Amino acid sequence: MRPLVAGNWKMNHTPTSGETFIKELDGRMDKVDADVVVFPPFVTIPRVVEAARKTRIKVGAQNMFWKDKGAFTGEVSAEMLLDAGVEYVIIGHSERRNIFGESDELINLKLKSALKAGLKPVLCIGEKLEERESGMTMDRIKFQLNADLSGVDVENIVIAYEPIWAIGTGRTATPEQAEEVHGFISEFLGGGVKILYGGSVKPTNAYQLMVQPHIDGVLVGGASLKPDTFYDIILAGLKAFEEKR
Ligand code: PEP
Repeated sequence: MRPLVAGNWKMNHTPTSGETFIKELDGRMDKVDADVVVFPPFVTIPRVVEAARKTRIKVGAQNMFWKDKGAFTGEVSAEMLLDAGVEYVIIGHSERRNIFGESDELINLKLKSALKAGLKPVLCIGEKLEERESGMTMDRIKFQLNADLSGVDVENIVIAYEPIWAIGTGRTATPEQAEEVHGFISEFLGGGVKILYGGSVKPTNAYQLMVQPHIDGVLVGGASLKPDTFYDIILAGLKAFEEKR
């Protein structure tokens, strides 16, 4: 098995800086036996796809709408992403849920649409701080899995467990906290599904997280914006997986 290291650029990197990022990262990727995916903003995608064409770096989108086409101003469909050379798509990131009000029903429709088009969805789930502190973490995770994956074949889906209190806060879940939830998700889904951890992953904590038995990789926000830190996280993943073999 190889680690999956994913970089969610959020609203960062122009087409120009995105292209430069790919060139710099690719210069180091020679012997990297990992699945590496970057998720640029929509307008940055074409230049990044072009720059990544002859590299081992894959490209994803941060969001999509579930309808194929039509009067949905500002939205982008799965088919459009696929045609632009995108392979993965993040669905249900907590920023989409909390800032843009995305519901589990909408996320479920998006997942079905992404899979129908042949994209690989990365479904983000995770509990709020008050849910963790009141002992509701597993209930929240179970609720999201049931609602988001209703009628969905999980074979081609990647799950990202991202505790909301750990995203962009510098406060990472401990490897034990993360492993406990990953083990729960893995058992709930019957195994065989890749489960990434996300939430303030950095070169300094990436190894300890990825060496856990049920952590198959990481979804990285802030630390994915610079090629050198992102590359250090990839290296940490390779070391962790070498040990897990
Ligand atoms: C994310 O946005 O998915 C994320 C995990 O962000 P950060 O690494 O910055 O916490």
